[in-house]
Amino acid sequence: MYIRCLILCIAFVLATASKKRYDGNILVSVTPYEEKHFKVLSLLEDTDEINIWNDIRRNSSVHVMFNNATAPWLMGLFSSLSMKPSIMHNDVQALVDQEENEIQLRARSGAPRGIHDAFLNYDEVTAWLKELVGLYPQLCTLISIGKTYENRDIWLIKCTGNNGATNKKKACLDFGIHAREWISPATGVYIINELVSKYAAGGLSKELLDTWEFHIIPILNPDGYAHSHARERMWRKNRKLVSGTCYGVDLNRNFGYQWNTGGSSASACSDTFHGGSPMSENEAKALQNYMTGKSWNTYLTFHSYGQWWFTNWGYTTANPPQYDELKQKANIGANAIKAVHGRAYTVGSSAQILYVASGGSEDWTRGALNILYSYCIELPPTGGTGFIAPVSEILKTGLETFAGVAAYLKALP
Ligand SMILES: [Zn+2]
Repeated sequence: MYIRCLILCIAFVLATASKKRYDGNILVSVTPYEEKHFKVLSLLEDTDEINIWNDIRRNSSVHVMFNNATAPWLMGLFSSLSMKPSIMHNDVQALVDQEENEIQLRARSGAPRGIHDAFLNYDEVTAWLKELVGLYPQLCTLISIGKTYENRDIWLIKCTGNNGATNKKKACLDFGIHAREWISPATGVYIINELVSKYAAGGLSKELLDTWEFHIIPILNPDGYAHSHARERMWRKNRKLVSGTCYGVDLNRNFGYQWNTGGSSASACSDTFHGGSPMSENEAKALQNYMTGKSWNTYLTFHSYGQWWFTNWGYTTANPPQYDELKQKANIGANAIKAVHGRAYTVGSSAQILYVASGGSEDWTRGALNILYSYCIELPPTGGTGFIAPVSEILKTGLETFAGVAAYLKALP
């Protein structure tokens, strides 16, 4: 017993010792309401002075992390611009520690890491997917749609009912394009499990699988996701070495429709670096290769956080084609989510509600693949501890998101 404890303790120390620490970092809320505020935040992020957690929204709270050492001048700057800076958390490392402790406690307890009670890492999701297709070979197949820079497979699970229907509608859903948004892959796994494990019982899962083909990518950014688990909790991009010391392209700025037309960065170190050219990244190319040439009824890409159901466009504030229709269908999903736990989503064009951001996957599926019902969904929460959500959020978010997606899909033509 003593030896076992010792080994576990050593493993814990090794696991935490190699991780990036956020000591001295604080999380601050600021409110941009003019174009110059957006520019200031973008510039500060480009120069690595701040790390922006949630999307920059006009007239609303934006959460930025920075080091205490720079706090006096940054707080002064934000105050002088009337951006209403206020401290949300004094110690980001304490939040990360809390999450790590929860993970380690569960590991020490010997309890199995089920899909509802842990944020599974890349290897665990891979093992779970393989087990699932082994259990339900008549419903699902697992394929790798490409390899990452670090040679991980980008898994796609295709699931549909074995009712023999032809001409089923096709939905493509992806999760985890941004590494640190852990609730996203967890929700993807929840949805896959809900569809497949409850198919035989009839009801909603059977209804959906008998009328739809689901093509689901639970982790579109495997390297970044693995890195956020093992090394750097707040990592967002992929892990390609892009300059001497800087890693990573923001995959959600790399897609090849209206690429580099605003709201992305040419600076390799920036969290919103759009890459050297459109579709330069393995992960974007894998999605492109898989989706091109097939006929899709909808594309949904899941991020966190903010509780938004975004329509196109990201690259321009102009209304997308059939905007009223897009909002009407999104509202069906958002209302169904709200009906579960009362959590409200805001529906509308992302560029109109937030700021312009080009190179997003949902603009590409609409603009290049002509999928009218292309949406970007920002999962909970709206504030609080942001990416560092308690494990209880997996079930809560999974339950309501499944209800929302199901209602939305049933409403599509
Ligand atoms: Zn995101």
